[in-house]
Amino acid sequence: HYNFCAGPAALPTAVLKRARDELLDYHGHGLSVMEMSHRGEDFVAIAERSEVDLRELLAIPDNYRVLFTQGGASLQFAALPYNLLGAGGRANFVHTGIWGKKAISETRHLFGDVHVAASSEENGHSAVPRQQEIVLSADAAYLHYTANETIGGLAFDYIPEAVRPDGTPVPLVCDMSSSILSAPLDVAKFGVIYAGAQKNIGPAGLVVVIVRDDLLDRARDDMPTLFGYRALAEAGSMVNTPATYSWYLAGLVFDWLKQDIGGLTAMAAINARKAARLYAAIDGSGLYANPVTLRNRSRMNVPFVLADPRLERPFLEEAEAAGLLNLKGHRSVGGMRASLYNAVSEAAVEALTDFMADFEKRRG
Ligand code: PLP
Repeated sequence: HYNFCAGPAALPTAVLKRARDELLDYHGHGLSVMEMSHRGEDFVAIAERSEVDLRELLAIPDNYRVLFTQGGASLQFAALPYNLLGAGGRANFVHTGIWGKKAISETRHLFGDVHVAASSEENGHSAVPRQQEIVLSADAAYLHYTANETIGGLAFDYIPEAVRPDGTPVPLVCDMSSSILSAPLDVAKFGVIYAGAQKNIGPAGLVVVIVRDDLLDRARDDMPTLFGYRALAEAGSMVNTPATYSWYLAGLVFDWLKQDIGGLTAMAAINARKAARLYAAIDGSGLYANPVTLRNRSRMNVPFVLADPRLERPFLEEAEAAGLLNLKGHRSVGGMRASLYNAVSEAAVEALTDFMADFEKRRG
């Protein structure tokens, strides 16, 4: 079977096998990682290794802290303004789809006013605003954007610059839930990067936050302890009991990326081939269509519709019978969506495009 789920998503088979082999008795220690004290030597070693590997994969500079926290990426929608609005100012956003909108709503709900610096709402989220269209407010505290909108399949093709109209730079904050680790990244351009784990990192529940250390001083003092980046950083992400097993599995994924794939440059090349194959299949057909402008097409999430919506049901049924799972689009937009995260192999994409061509020949 091939799993094209948008999240929780497929994990590398090699990782699942290793987890199975280590499940009952971790390296002869007589217990499962799930049963270990998070403060014990063995788990602390697992935690430290995972951070070292993630730092190496993303070439994270030393002045950034890496947090392994919980509550999903959605909890960061709330934690971010608490952590970054302590010195006043307003949160600024580039709005390119449903997840960005949720981040905006949560900030508004908690702190009232926000400034939307640019939006792709007018073009139906089919193209990301250009740099010159992003106009921050004079009181911008930071600029938040969503690198890859998981539902719309809309991705930034550049890293925006976050500067107030008077030229003062402000921290750039990015929701990278559905694109982190899919390609190399210049972390130094960002103030905060955060990502829910359940796409390219590991099991749901865990959230990775990468924060520049000078930003740890901007927090409001009225926030829940567990939101606090400083508290998490100082406690090695162990303010309370962390999601130990998810964290361990994330470590196995990082190791797989390093050892089996050969790092993020190699991963990016594989991801580029996968996406090119699927978009070519869509663009070359009379049955399938994707509305996103070429430069902003996501390599991770590929939504597409069928020319005749009545064929959607048979498409999904036959795909599932052929072992191609979870191709149904997000419930809010319908249609189809194939997610091509790191763990989805080139063979999986080939099986999908073969099926699509065959389906079109028979039913299109
Ligand atoms: N941001 C993006 C880009 C996502 O794709 C998702 C979930 O799919 C979220 C945020 C929300 O993540 P969570 O369900 O972990 O809160």
